[in-house]
Amino acid sequence: MVMKASRARRPTLAQVDFERSPFLVIWEVTRACDLACLHCRAEAVHDRHPLELGTEEAMRLMDEVRRFGQPLFVLTGGDPLKRPDVVELVRYGASIGLRMGMTPSGTPLMTEEVLVELKEAGLSRLAVSLDGSTAAIHDAFRGVEGSWAWTIRMLEAARRIGLSTQVNTTVSRYNIDDIDALCELMTRLGIALWSVFFLVPTGRARPRDVASAEEFEAVFEKMYELSRTAPFDIKSTAAPQYRRVILQMQVQERRRGERRGRPEPLTEGIGFSLTDGVGRAKGVNEGDGFLFVNHLGAIYPSGFLPIAAGNVRRDDIVDVYRNSELFRALRDRSRLKGKCGVCEYRDVCGGSRARAYAVTGDYLEAEPFCAHVPTRYRRMVEEGRAEPVEEYFRRRVRPGFEAVVRS
Ligand code: SF4
Repeated sequence: MVMKASRARRPTLAQVDFERSPFLVIWEVTRACDLACLHCRAEAVHDRHPLELGTEEAMRLMDEVRRFGQPLFVLTGGDPLKRPDVVELVRYGASIGLRMGMTPSGTPLMTEEVLVELKEAGLSRLAVSLDGSTAAIHDAFRGVEGSWAWTIRMLEAARRIGLSTQVNTTVSRYNIDDIDALCELMTRLGIALWSVFFLVPTGRARPRDVASAEEFEAVFEKMYELSRTAPFDIKSTAAPQYRRVILQMQVQERRRGERRGRPEPLTEGIGFSLTDGVGRAKGVNEGDGFLFVNHLGAIYPSGFLPIAAGNVRRDDIVDVYRNSELFRALRDRSRLKGKCGVCEYRDVCGGSRARAYAVTGDYLEAEPFCAHVPTRYRRMVEEGRAEPVEEYFRRRVRPGFEAVVRS
């Protein structure tokens, strides 16, 4: 039995024990989508799969997820609006006390009327993808002309009806030169959170689409600078090394006498608040505070790490998260290899396990797109006990990645 939302106590987010419960559960409700994004993780197609989880199975899934407590439960796709029961699903999730989010695609399927229905059903936050400051950049990335304008209209409509919003931006070769303009655009959109995704070369994304480790670093620094004044929160996705950069920048500020408090690997925009109840958690990584269920019920540590540890149709999702070898290994930072294994930032960062897997085939390998070389690793190289970073990755990357991995 689960408690009704009105009587349920919200957990203090910092107290969520990731060994027992994820902060965030994402369910890919369908792979159907009218867009054709160049980098699509889901390799979305036009039509729904006949074996997608049905409405009753989805409700059972939400009941099971509720056993974790009150994780944020996000309906993603494909495009969730390709399912006719999507409002019913939001209503059910909210009624049993889940904090509900949704990531619709930027298409004409989302109207203000639908937004009102979703809000009334209990949607806490709407997250939309915006990958360019202009229609030309975004639409080329998303594969459909008009997507940028539909997305902006969706954000404006959500704002009008008082629905909290989030923008997801995927950083890749296609928009790396547009980051300054994107930062500027974000400050005008009235959002609660800017989630900056760093492309993982899986699904339709190709190795050459990923920006370099040095380019990642430059974007992290811009994100941090923006976070000092932005009226919204900023986080990275599939790039926990941003938390390392935050700590490094704050240490520099302390040295310059510009900062007093202890460095904290989580930034808040100056106007950020928890009023939509969605909140933030510290240190979420693949399988560590995070869980993904695909359209057929397979349980993954992340949508970007396509190794299934079970299926909700036959397995207990709580047991899979807490006890499967895959999830336990991902939460055990002492098992990390290469420079991540000896890094002074291992516990706050740990590298993207999804990118390590995509590039090397081993989810415990070092993060190949991090510019940082840990002090201890440097010493090991000097003493002949470890290979130089470039050599290390050259011998471990999958075919096709040789040219893009440099550090
Ligand atoms: S070396 Fe690994 S653990 Fe250290 S900051 Fe880079 S990605 Fe994070």
